[in-house]
Order: sequence, then structure tokens, then C-alpha cells
Amino acid sequence: MKYFITFICGFLLSTQLSASMSQDKTGLYLDWLDYHMNPGQNFYEFANGTWRKNHPIPAAYPSWSVWTVLQENNTKIIHTLIQNIAKNPNNKPNSIQQKIGDFYKSGMDETALNKLGSTPLQPEFSRIENMNQLSDLQHEIAHLQLIGMSTPFIFDQMQDFTDSSKVIGIANQGGLGLPDRDYYLLNDKKFVELRKDYLSHVTRMLKLLGETPFNASQDAHTILTIETAFAKASLSRIEQRDPHHIYHLKTLDELQKVTPHFDWKLFFADLGYPDIQQINLATPTFFVCIEDQLKNLSLKDWKVYLRWHLIQATAPYLSKPFVDESFYLQKKLTGAKQLLPRWHRVMNEENEALGFAVGKLYVEKMFPLSSKQAIQDILDHIRNTLELDLKTVPWMSSETRTAALHKLSLMKYHIGYPDKWRDYSALSIDQGPYVLNILKSAEFAKRYSLNKIGKPVDRQEWDMIPQEINAYYDPSKNEFNLLAGILQPPFFNPNAGAAVNYGAIGYVIGHEMTHAFDDQGAQFDGQGNLKNWWTEDDLKKFQLAAHCIVHQYSQYKINGQSVQGNLVSGEAIADLSGMTLAYNAFHESSNYSKAVAIKGFTPDQQFFLSAAHINAANMRPEESRRRILIDPHPPIQLRSNGIFANMPEFQNSFALSSNSPMINKDRCKVW
Ligand SMILES: [Zn+2]
Repeated sequence: MKYFITFICGFLLSTQLSASMSQDKTGLYLDWLDYHMNPGQNFYEFANGTWRKNHPIPAAYPSWSVWTVLQENNTKIIHTLIQNIAKNPNNKPNSIQQKIGDFYKSGMDETALNKLGSTPLQPEFSRIENMNQLSDLQHEIAHLQLIGMSTPFIFDQMQDFTDSSKVIGIANQGGLGLPDRDYYLLNDKKFVELRKDYLSHVTRMLKLLGETPFNASQDAHTILTIETAFAKASLSRIEQRDPHHIYHLKTLDELQKVTPHFDWKLFFADLGYPDIQQINLATPTFFVCIEDQLKNLSLKDWKVYLRWHLIQATAPYLSKPFVDESFYLQKKLTGAKQLLPRWHRVMNEENEALGFAVGKLYVEKMFPLSSKQAIQDILDHIRNTLELDLKTVPWMSSETRTAALHKLSLMKYHIGYPDKWRDYSALSIDQGPYVLNILKSAEFAKRYSLNKIGKPVDRQEWDMIPQEINAYYDPSKNEFNLLAGILQPPFFNPNAGAAVNYGAIGYVIGHEMTHAFDDQGAQFDGQGNLKNWWTEDDLKKFQLAAHCIVHQYSQYKINGQSVQGNLVSGEAIADLSGMTLAYNAFHESSNYSKAVAIKGFTPDQQFFLSAAHINAANMRPEESRRRILIDPHPPIQLRSNGIFANMPEFQNSFALSSNSPMINKDRCKVW
């Protein structure tokens, strides 16, 4: 598990619009507006109503947004590049071209896939079937970890929270077949229904593996019982937001005390790291439950459980009946109506398996160096504005202020793509079966990750692939990266006016930078260590300001479901502070005095419209429900409306009366 925070929630724009956009000199999308909506009533709808009407969600998607549209464009570009590589008969064995090409071919060979059914996995099923004693179960759990199955818990590496120069192992809760513990525990009608759907889905999947209907149904109930026990022992997403809740360094002896029936020394040796002496046991209560299950569950039930997790993870890469059954659950969870075309699904996996190699192809083709230079200006400007803010914010003591400025001075950032690309030479890929390429890639990724344990932190390494439409901040490294994929309209347009760019990419940059000072990031110092650098008094004031956000967001409901203020507070703080920062940076930039009105919209109004545009989206109710449960980002409409409601600058720019529903009467201000 990597502990980082990302600006991930949906952004927006469509294929046709992307073409027309590059010709739009203003960079502002006034044809997305709904002029029937009063901006003081619902600004998000005012800014994006027409876009939303004109962009219904395609059947294969849970949601449709500017973000998905850009991602789609990138996927198509990369698809063409990969098709060309796959067609070349002269790719040298073990070259990256051979790996990219063969991975693609193995995934596209539907005839071979359909003929094979689940037979390529037979050796894996036999391993599970042949377990005879507890020690066999131990070996199998280690083996499954290595081929990418985090079951019944997750083992990985992390930067040590208290010594960010070190990489340590981490064992964390996991082992569920549904997306979150709440899916097992909530008693709302929808969730009761979903659990019934899940049972029938597991039953059918097991029947596909050859079980009798009676056995399959019995086994499905066993699986749900085991997973429910794990769910009950799991921390909630909100609890996991507190780094202290998920950090418990334990020596081998201490680990052994938590789980006497699990031999950690043997487990580490199986993984290939016999020298590990200490790890972060992130969620000790969960491992008490693991111990319970090891003691009380029969080996027969463990076999049922592990077999299920193996097939659940691999079904999308097998023959049609498995793919369809796997999609059944996705449909129930996200509301998507049909499968993505095969080439698209293969591309998604290729990004997963060989993401940085694919990313290198992408940036060579799509990312001119001039983009990097143009964005630098905005970035520097926002950074300077944040520095000025930290110097002048009235409530902070000089002690905390010095520490905050020091943290900012140590913050690093990168634009576009990593300087050092990942080396895939140890990964072997051939022309199939597809599912075995998937498992080999997962094993390569896992070993690559675990291999960092005990070594110094590689600061050149990126956590996300550059072709993604995204940016992220990593508190343990105190750095943020703007990925190449996001540096295109409507996020960034070198030909657009400053108001438009500051409202869009400026907001994203401000958001990432202020993650260093949100309720979670502020607990880490400039070196990335979990260490309090606040005076007691200042911390109280800061927490009070953060609580205002928790309170504000807890009042919102989407489709009748309450937003979890405590889950989204970090992202909401980064949204509000990032937006304020971008606004101030725009005003302080030399471009502000040159900014002109566009079709009656003042530069400030353009800023807010542009900020709302990057979040234009449509979402199915199932997906909305899933996100409210598990996503630390606020629901997408609140990433405009929730923030603007706190900003007097917004109220002034649209001359809204103080009775407007777009105004939060008790304004929150964090930075
Ligand atoms: Zn964020």
C-alpha cells in the first residue's frame, strides 16, 4: 500500500469538444453553460448544464466526465501506437516492443481465450486443493500475495511514517470481495439487495468452475460469512485517514503475539525477504480476526475462500462466461450497462502491466517540451502566493509559521513524466494465455515493490503513470507530480487567457500544494516524517477551521445519501485552499491587468467558470453511492459549489445576494 493522496475525482470534456477546443482562442466553453439556470441558484449547473445534457453516459461507463473523455482520447492514441508495435514482425525477443506487442496479442486472441476456459489456472487451483495443513495455507497465502492477490490481507511496502528515509513492510486489512467493509455492514435496503446479488454472483462463478449448484450455493454462503467477519474487523475509511491509526511498528516477536497461528518469519522467507525484522502492522484488530480465522476455520473453508479470490481476480481475463459473470458484479456496483470493447479492456490492463513503458511511448508522441515550460510559470506563481499566504496568515504563531515555510521550501514538484523510466527487463511476456501474462505482470509489479524494503527511498520514482489525467501529492516525499496527461484543455491551454488557466490547472496545482497543509498532510513535516510541527494553540485553531469543512460537507446529500464530511475533509480543504490560492495567484500575476472580458464575462467570472468546467460530469446513481462510501474526494458537483460557497470573491464576482443558496452563511476558511 502506498500512502498518498490524489486529485483523482472526475474532470471533463468530449472527443468532439476536444477538437473544437483547440480552435477556441478564449479557451472558455460558453456553449457548456445553461443560461436558464441562475448562477446564484446552482453554479455547477449554470456552468455545465448544457454539457451535461449533451453528454449522456455511454452504456459501458459508470460516469462520464471531462476526465473520462480525455482519458478516452489518450487510450485511443496509445491503442494506435500499440497496434503498430504488435504488427511489427521484427520485434526482438525480450525487447520492450516484444512485451508490449505480445501482451496486446494475447489479450486480443478471443478465440484462444474462449477455447481455454479456466484451464490455464489449473496449476493455481491445484496448489489450493492440495493444501493439507496450516503451514501449507501459510505458503499459499505468501504465494497469492506474490501473484498480486491481497488475500486475506495486504502485504506491501511503504515509506516509514516516522523515518521517511526508510522503506518498510506493511501488513494491512484486505481480503474482501466487495469494495469496502460498509458493503457488508450497512443495512440499508440497497446494501441488503447488493449482498443477495453478490451471493448469487459467487454461486454462479463457482458453478462455472464445475461445482454442483448445491455446493456452489453452500460455498458462497461460507465466503460471505468469512468476508463479513473480515469486514467487521476492518477500520472504516474515515478511521484510516488518521495516520496514527494505521501505524504500528511491530517486531517479529510482537507480530507473533498478535497471530500465534501465523508464522511471520516463514511468510517473509516465502516472499523472498527472510531478513525482515520489523513491519508496520497497520490494523492490529484486523489481524486479531485473521488469527481467529486461522484457529477456527477448517482447511476446507479456507480452500473455498482462496479459490473464490483467485477466480474473482482472474475471471475478466478468461473465456466469455467468466468475463460476463465478472461484469455482472461490476454492473451492480457501478451501474455500467455493457462491457467495454475488448481492445479497451486490454489497453487498461496493458497500462497496468507495462504502464511506464506505455507512458514513455505516449510522452514521446504527445508531450512537447514547450508544455513543460509554459506550465512552469503558473506553478512558480502559485508557489510564491502560497509562501506569501504562510508569511501573512494572521492566526499563526511565528514558531509554526517558520516550520510551515520550511516545509514549503523543501517541497519538490515534477511536471510531465519521470526522469528515470522503470526497467521491465525482468518481466517476461509471451503470446499467451492472456491470464498468465496478467499473473506474470502482477508478480513482477509485486516483487518490484517489495524489493524496496530495507533500501533507501528512490526519490526519482513516480507513483502514477504519466499518461493519466491526474496529479498527486505524496506527503512522505513532500512532493507533487503533475502528469503529462492532464496538461491539455480544458485543464491547460497555452493559448487561453490567464483567467481560464488559473481557474483550471491553477486550481489543480493549488489543490496539490495545499495537500501539504490539509488536515492529514499537515501532520507530516518537510522531510515527510509524521511529526507534529505545530504549537498546541495553532493546532487547535487549525483543527477548528478544518472542522468547519467537516460540518459544511456533512450537511450535503446526494440522491438522499449523506456526504461523509470526515471522509472528504482533506480533499475539500485542498479544494478550497487550492482554489483560493489560484484566485490570488491570478490576481497577483502580471497577466491580471491584461485580462479582458469575454462575451460579457469578467476575468473573475471566467476564472470560476473554468474551475467549474473541469468538473463537469454525469454519474449513475450506483456509482455515486459507491463513491460517497469510499472516495475521499467530495461528490463532483461540490468540488465547485461547496468551495465557491465559502468564497466572498465568488459572491462578489457574480453579485449574488447573501440569501443565495450558493452562499455558505458560516463561511469556512482554512488557509
Ligand atoms: Zn487531492
